[in-house]
Amino acid sequence: MAKPVVKKEYTFLERIYLWEIVKGLKLTFKHFTFNFKESLKKGPHTVPTCWQYPEDRRPIAPVFRGAHMLCLDDEGRELCVGCGMCARACPAKCITVKRGKPAEGEEGKYAGKTMSAEFTIDMLRCIFCGFCEEACPKGAIQLGQEYELAEYTMDACIYDKERLLANFQKAKAEGKLKPPKKPVPVAGGDKKAGAKKVAKKPVATDGKKSKKAASKPQAEEKKASETKREET
Ligand code: SF4
Ligand code: SF4
Repeated sequence: MAKPVVKKEYTFLERIYLWEIVKGLKLTFKHFTFNFKESLKKGPHTVPTCWQYPEDRRPIAPVFRGAHMLCLDDEGRELCVGCGMCARACPAKCITVKRGKPAEGEEGKYAGKTMSAEFTIDMLRCIFCGFCEEACPKGAIQLGQEYELAEYTMDACIYDKERLLANFQKAKAEGKLKPPKKPVPVAGGDKKAGAKKVAKKPVATDGKKSKKAASKPQAEEKKASETKREET
């Protein structure tokens, strides 16, 4: 049975609120003196108070997904080959890639035989899921640690290739690059290493064959039950 709600009777001190205000101030003063004493001992911003942004910035986890960047290899060549895997994986459909071939005499600027002639990301649509980074076979796109993405115009939120490359250069200069992605092993791709081919299961191509295949164990079961009956 539900208990009846009994209304609490307030004391005189509680009814005038003054004593409650004094109690609240006492608690505030207690925390203030503690933090003040600790900061005198250990130095400013060492006790868990507010971060004085933008002067103080919280350390960011290495797995944080911020603004995108197009990466270069150690020799300064563009890693992107314009395959479009990132655009296909993107659930927000905010990446546009056009594959092209390097112009004559510019082959040394690119790590692959092809390159991205156009590469844009609409940051207004991006949900920072990181699928593009996962899908890239070359480790050419990364989500960096930059999180101050506010702009004055919507056009400025569409990052072109130059901006994405500049993001990489900035992150490199600040030492905020992620470790390079390990290449994904492809099953049966490394023939020299003796990679075994995976045996494919036979697949029924027509309805008749599959019916036959399905009825075989049933027939065996029937035969076994008949011989059992004969024995008894
Ligand atoms: S982080 Fe996700 S939504 Fe943003 S560009 Fe990459 S795949 Fe698209
Ligand atoms: S960033 Fe990676 S997945 Fe996207 S086009 Fe370039 S190489 Fe392909």
